[in-house]
Amino acid sequence: MQYEFSIQVTPEVSANLDLLKTQVSIKNGLPIDEIRHILILKRSIDARQKAIKVNLKIKVYVQEDFVEESIQLPEYPDVSNASEIVIIGAGPAGLFAALRCVELGCKPIVLERGKDVRNRRRDLKAINRDHIVNEDSNYCFGEGGAGTYSDGKLYTRSKKRGDVNRILRLLVGFGATDQILVEAHPHIGTNKLPAIIASIREKIKQHGGEIYFETRVTDFKIKNSEINAVVLHNGDVIETKKVILATGHSARDIFELLYKKNIDIEAKPFALGVRVEHSQQLIDQIQYKCEVRGPYLPPSPYSIVKQVGGRGMYSFCMCPGGVIAPCATSPGEVVTNGWSPSKRDQPTSNSGIVVELRLEDFKEFSEYGPLAGMYFQKKIEQRAWHLAGETQRVPAQRLVDMTLGKTSLNLPETSYKPGLTSVDMHEVFPKFIHKTLQEGFKAFDKSMRGYLTNEAVVHAPESRTSSPVRIPRDRFTLEHTQIKGLYPCGEGAGYAGGIISAAIDGEKCAEACVATIA
Ligand code: FAD
Repeated sequence: MQYEFSIQVTPEVSANLDLLKTQVSIKNGLPIDEIRHILILKRSIDARQKAIKVNLKIKVYVQEDFVEESIQLPEYPDVSNASEIVIIGAGPAGLFAALRCVELGCKPIVLERGKDVRNRRRDLKAINRDHIVNEDSNYCFGEGGAGTYSDGKLYTRSKKRGDVNRILRLLVGFGATDQILVEAHPHIGTNKLPAIIASIREKIKQHGGEIYFETRVTDFKIKNSEINAVVLHNGDVIETKKVILATGHSARDIFELLYKKNIDIEAKPFALGVRVEHSQQLIDQIQYKCEVRGPYLPPSPYSIVKQVGGRGMYSFCMCPGGVIAPCATSPGEVVTNGWSPSKRDQPTSNSGIVVELRLEDFKEFSEYGPLAGMYFQKKIEQRAWHLAGETQRVPAQRLVDMTLGKTSLNLPETSYKPGLTSVDMHEVFPKFIHKTLQEGFKAFDKSMRGYLTNEAVVHAPESRTSSPVRIPRDRFTLEHTQIKGLYPCGEGAGYAGGIISAAIDGEKCAEACVATIA
């Protein structure tokens, strides 16, 4: 017999199957020797009370053995000679679009400006150590897209849970731990993601799909409002009537190209701010309300939202036990973001803390039409680069100093490898962003006592939170509203925010595109 139920236990019991068995036996009056196995289906931590609890959804096997289910990948057909679909970009949206094309019997041709996961590493070293930004290969561009060297958080605010589970199961099929199916807030980690992405790539190729790295798309050929071909950086032309455009939120050249060709795009509000680093120990103390986290709890994340003077200010892409990374995609700019290894075992935690922006905030750049937000974003990144010394060092300020408008006389150590320059944040940001951040951090401290400390350091800017542009598409066909055969997809087009939602959107676009071929 199998019983499914929910139980709340201590962190220690949640980590020890024997203790859990005993507790289940006592609570449910089941003889302990009849419980053959307990399968944990879902796990979440409830840190609201001083005595922290773990909520478990479990399946108990009574007088019945447990048979482990291994997750199978779909049966992928050989698509070597099938109809072709060109996919631009090998981020989560592009790769999951390609996999779905194969599954549905079409041949994906994936064009990616960056390098494969292994060769990409050299360029990450160069930006961290030598301050050299390769415009095609960096933390945002290359195989796996922006998510490859990330914390690999796999949760989304998307309501489509069914689709989320499908993507999670595929990731397990490609080598992720099956714990991502259990944890309420699953993550994979920078050290594990590249192998998973490489195995997705190999699967696509084994079944007849094609993937080309260091292949940047520079133009589209359009005839009678229908896509006819894509042009590559070396002048080669690939003729095609089906293009999934999944180039991410940092492909400014693609946004410029669409605008130049009079292909409809729209300005989109996004959020921008700073990345703050605290010691992980402090965050654990605040969140778990104890001196030491102990062996049974993971490094604590946090999530916080405040309304400050009518604007939202919130934590974004928080990385417990993680590191701040230089995520610029062009020379002459600095951008921060964060990553964590799978164990989240670094001594520091970091989070983007961003202020909600509105279309009217971009007025100064109205000459750029729908690209106004992008130019607003670019100007802040360039100003930060200039203020910090025109390398990949970033402007930084101690957190309390920032709220007081005081330049920091010295800065503590940081995980951000290229280094910091002490700069007052009012020089980096427009006044309304700076003011919101100053007030917002004080408000944060009311909810998370101890958060506002001068041992924490603000790094600027965190500017690539989501796309500053939307590429409009038909709600049903998912084709561009003006150009037949063009499928705007993923985060860059404004239809996703994060790895999981980008993957979901990739699959959706592939399905819509294949449906027009079948
Ligand atoms: P992208 O991942 O941006 O992929 C677009 C791809 O298109 C890139 O590989 C790019 O090289 C390629 N491309 C661009 N232009 C061209 C061109 N002209 N020709 C050919 N190819 C082109 N999200 C989470 O959910 N969890 C996290 O923990 C997380 N951490 C992050 C950490 C970092 C450091 C960064 C940078 C991002 C993080 N994100 C995280 C965000 C997440 O990575 C993105 O939301 C997601 O990757 C978007 O997927 P996408 O496929 O739409 O676009």
